Amino acid sequence: MKTEGKRQKKLTRSGGVQSHPVSAFCLQPSALSLGSNLGDRLENLTLARGKVAALPQTREVAFSSVYETEPVDAPEGSPNFFNAVMLIETSLSPLELLRATQAIENEFGRVRSVPNAPRTLDIDILFYGDVLMNTPELTLPHPRAHLRRFVMEPLAEVCKSLNLQIPKFPNP
Ligand code: ADP
Ligand code: MG
Repeated sequence: MKTEGKRQKKLTRSGGVQSHPVSAFCLQPSALSLGSNLGDRLENLTLARGKVAALPQTREVAFSSVYETEPVDAPEGSPNFFNAVMLIETSLSPLELLRATQAIENEFGRVRSVPNAPRTLDIDILFYGDVLMNTPELTLPHPRAHLRRFVMEPLAEVCKSLNLQIPKFPNP
């Protein structure tokens, strides 16, 4: 699979893989991509991880290493991103999860200006179990995830650590 993205380096080792065996899942896992390229990037990801894990009806299943990546299609001079992928189990609906993660972005002072502008925190839903949807507010699986190395590398890492197959992303 060909992904966009230049050099990226692993900054931290994954410390978050939980001990629950896959057979213990009562819900299908969902995956979030977390990224930050403004402020204290590592702290932003760490605090965001805690806030996601604390959402109602939600628990963390795994958290990847943090990767430092060069921005893709971003305004000239944008700082490098710190990126990670988090697997969760949740019984929030897809839209409830989107709204909850957007509320967390807002808590970090996320300002939406031009596309791909530097941001304190971006949380994208990569997939939600095997749900397929395409609405103006939410597309699942995420339509560009499979093109982004900063998504696929940490996703492959967490899936491998849990013996899960990397989900197939439909081509756009
Ligand atoms: P991007 O993540 O593409 O850089 P934003 O974070 O500003 O840009 O998201 C733009 C919009 O994308 C959001 O307002 C949200 O409604 C929509 N969106 C559609 N599908 C998804 C998804 N799978 N995960 C997160 N946001 C999504
Ligand atoms: Mg986003």
